[in-house]
Amino acid sequence: MSHEVLEFDGISTGLLEKGKADGAETIWDRQAAMKAKCGFGDKGICCRICAMGPCRISPVEGKGAQRGLCGATADTIVARNFARMVCGGASAHSDHARDIAHVMHIANKEGNYKVKDVGKLMNLAKEWGVNTDDREPNDIAHEIAEIALNEFGKPFGVQRLLVRAPEQRQKIWKDLKIEPRAIDREIATLMHSTHIGCASDAESILDLCMRTSLADGWGGSWIGTELSDIMFGVPTARGTEANLGVIEENMVNIMVHGHDPSFSEMVVLAAEDPELLALAKEMGAAGINLVGMCCTGNEVTMRHGVKIAGNFYQQELAIMTGAMEAVMVDVQCIFPALAKLADVYHTQFISTSPKAKMEGSIYIEFEEDHALDICKKIVRGAVENFKNRDKEKVMIPEAKNSAVVGYSVETVIQHLDKVVNSQTDVFNTVKPLSDVIWAGVLRGAVGIVGCNNPQVEHDKSHITIMKELIKNDIIVVTTGCAAQAAAKAGLMTMEAKELCGRGLKEVCERVGIPPILHMGSCVDISRILDIVSRVAIERGLDNSDLPVTGVAPEWMSEKAVSIGTYVVSSGINTYLGVTPQVTGSEYFVDLLTNKLEEKVGAKFIFEEDPVECARLMMEDIEAKRDKLGI
Ligand code: SF4
Ligand code: SF4
Repeated sequence: MSHEVLEFDGISTGLLEKGKADGAETIWDRQAAMKAKCGFGDKGICCRICAMGPCRISPVEGKGAQRGLCGATADTIVARNFARMVCGGASAHSDHARDIAHVMHIANKEGNYKVKDVGKLMNLAKEWGVNTDDREPNDIAHEIAEIALNEFGKPFGVQRLLVRAPEQRQKIWKDLKIEPRAIDREIATLMHSTHIGCASDAESILDLCMRTSLADGWGGSWIGTELSDIMFGVPTARGTEANLGVIEENMVNIMVHGHDPSFSEMVVLAAEDPELLALAKEMGAAGINLVGMCCTGNEVTMRHGVKIAGNFYQQELAIMTGAMEAVMVDVQCIFPALAKLADVYHTQFISTSPKAKMEGSIYIEFEEDHALDICKKIVRGAVENFKNRDKEKVMIPEAKNSAVVGYSVETVIQHLDKVVNSQTDVFNTVKPLSDVIWAGVLRGAVGIVGCNNPQVEHDKSHITIMKELIKNDIIVVTTGCAAQAAAKAGLMTMEAKELCGRGLKEVCERVGIPPILHMGSCVDISRILDIVSRVAIERGLDNSDLPVTGVAPEWMSEKAVSIGTYVVSSGINTYLGVTPQVTGSEYFVDLLTNKLEEKVGAKFIFEEDPVECARLMMEDIEAKRDKLGI
């Protein structure tokens, strides 16, 4: 078992040794068994989209097979494979959002789901032209939900939320004919276009990728965030703790893992149920300790301060502490391996979504109509399982750090209001942020997002890049597993201002924020789009004019491919710390890393060295500043 990848994260190494003694198999064992990666897959030049194949193209030009059986070139195959990753990613985000819209549609006063943020509901109602006079919030919510659901499959027009982009950006999309129409339609169309015998022109496939990804960022993901805030509350700044040390030896530990807040919100309520808390005490535990993993962990920490057990790469380690009574999962980013691993311990591994039944799991279907009862049933089972814990197998690393989380756009603006001059300025805008950027106190802003990936040391790229940027007066906003890396590293504390350059430190002190702002889960990257677009609009500019970039240092999922593509299509240069499987086509690489800039004013940059990546981003930001004359 190679531990090299974990050197950066000292705490995991000890646990892995223990896991080995317990007979646990982990991702590192499987990685070792995989040996060398398939060179064709790694370059994106294998195709199996029809039964004439699979076909693979020789990576050496002029030598070996240069075309698939149908005549598809490496350029076509690479573009199609990339496109299908965009589809996978966009579909995951969008289906997630659709579920939230359905939940909103059943919201009622007596039920489990109620409208929590009436103000945000009213704002959206105004934007979408929904009558609010003398109407119950739930009633308005039902109409909003229906409109949102229509965004997935409406027959005509383009997506509603595009109007939140700067006008210049909207024009670019219109001129390029990449305005997304309906979310599902874009995904279906791109799957169609990449069927055998359809699109073979790589550039046009990339255009379709942009349109589909925009259907995610400015459609599915944004709707997901917007409606989640309305239903479950707009996140506000709050304290929490992060890393495996949040697992408590004397408590019933339950981990919630996956993505959907409709599920995790109910888990939070169930874990607070007095009857179940009393039962936990009866069982000899001090209480119930709910902890989060991956994006669902982000959702519940943003809204409730639930502690973060870890990020993607630590899901197995959390079970290997031997102190986890239950792992409750819904959809996305859940290792199928958890079922087998849970069997090594007393842990109950419970899958709940009909979309993600997991082999070897205990399946308890989550139904929105009986949401709380179902979650209570699962929590009860976990509490009763406390007695089965094998004390000999318990090892909880001491590592944990405190963090301040909950920076929705609304919360960021509230903080910015603290430095607004009440005589001369208006409240409730992003102007203070753009002012400090224009003054040069902050050089710019970077969004750091994405996953963990065994191709790179766990969390090292995230943390290295974050530290480099804040040291150089660049404010960082972050989501997903990148955000959890920052929380674990103690970068989301007020004290982290000491790691910043003078300008950013000053801003942190005045505004009362940490230098790295947790903006939520992966769908909440829409919050980053929102804030960037507000600054651009406030300055009369396009996103691509601003000294901002995005980076996914350790990405791994198809969702990350969709995210990267919509961020670039929104005019923001996007750096990837893991090179995507496209290098089998120089032409496609050139499209992504060069030609896209002519079209949308932004491009991808592949850079695996985190220090160099940070340097390039800073250079990029300074070049944007020069262009603006600031
Ligand atoms: S679509 Fe073409 S390249 Fe792909 S598997 Fe079929 S024949 Fe081969
Ligand atoms: S950041 Fe990546 S690994 Fe983490 S939850 Fe999101 S998609 Fe999954």
